[in-house]
Amino acid sequence: MIIVMESGATQEQTDKVVNRLKENGFKININQGDVLTVIAAIGDKRLVQPQSIASLDGVREVKLIQEPFKMASRESQKHDTVIELSEDVKIGGNNRPVVMAGPCSVEDYKGLLEIAQAVKAAGAKILRGGAFKPRTSPYDFQGLEEKGLEYLAKVRKKTGLLVVTEVMDTLDLPLVEEYADIIQIGARNMQNFKLLKAVGKYRKPVMLKRGPAATIREFLLAAEHIMYAGNPNVILCERGVKGIDSTFTRNTLDLAAVPIIHKYSHLPVIVDPSHGTGRRYLIEPMSKAALVCGANGLMVEVHNNPDKACSDGAQSLTTEMFAKMMKSLNMIMDVNNQEISA
Ligand code: PEP
Ligand code: MN
Repeated sequence: MIIVMESGATQEQTDKVVNRLKENGFKININQGDVLTVIAAIGDKRLVQPQSIASLDGVREVKLIQEPFKMASRESQKHDTVIELSEDVKIGGNNRPVVMAGPCSVEDYKGLLEIAQAVKAAGAKILRGGAFKPRTSPYDFQGLEEKGLEYLAKVRKKTGLLVVTEVMDTLDLPLVEEYADIIQIGARNMQNFKLLKAVGKYRKPVMLKRGPAATIREFLLAAEHIMYAGNPNVILCERGVKGIDSTFTRNTLDLAAVPIIHKYSHLPVIVDPSHGTGRRYLIEPMSKAALVCGANGLMVEVHNNPDKACSDGAQSLTTEMFAKMMKSLNMIMDVNNQEISA
């Protein structure tokens, strides 16, 4: 860490900082300028919390040199993590981007099957659908819960699609884990640390969505919680953050997060343009942009009758729109794939 002392800091105050660090095995380099003293300290920050140095008298600022996430970091693992779900569904690295598609909520078996068959025919490999729904209002549709999971399992059997579905609570985790091929942690729960630790006890892949107001560092630290608890199979999902203008979009899709995460982490990144924009007409351009930015896959909401959807109809593509979009995405995915593997 780098410690910048106040301009009026006394020698005694500087010594106190240096001694605290030295006592804990830190290597110290002091740079005494005309106005400021800057201390460079290298050591194990678990032994001296940066906050405890920041609160000492005479300290102006403490800056960290290394990223606080370790297991999720590119430094700890140079190669990309690839989540192998089946012979032909692999997320991450140079693999062809994987598309997850389906309704926001699982509503009924017949409709789910119809959507699943359509998205599969268009090239999706994974069916999405929420059985436990995080809704802003308690008066809105809350999901079919276990019945919804059963429909997902039945449709998986019939279509061969894999299933990603959200868990909202540690209590429901054993049940959701039994049905899901990928356990989704929703944006609102990105910092539900008990839930992160609980999914960390399993080996099943976890798709962690970025919190609506989370920084990239907080996002990666949330992934770190899952990995530290024992589950290395984490997929990150950028789904937009609260922006300054919700007139035209529901959230602000942060596509720069994709190459940033690839630079600092080895974990795969999926982009969700549906929640990221909230508007149907923005799904295709944002999906294309996400792929160009290096996304390892997409999560798209698709409904057979979006006007009648129980949730998120305005951001859901019709099955026909999805099929049309996939045709143009396929071209980008093929090019990306060739470029990467060239
Ligand atoms: C979802 O994908 O169903 C969902 C609720 O998304 P988010 O957690 O990103 O809002
Ligand atoms: Mn939704």
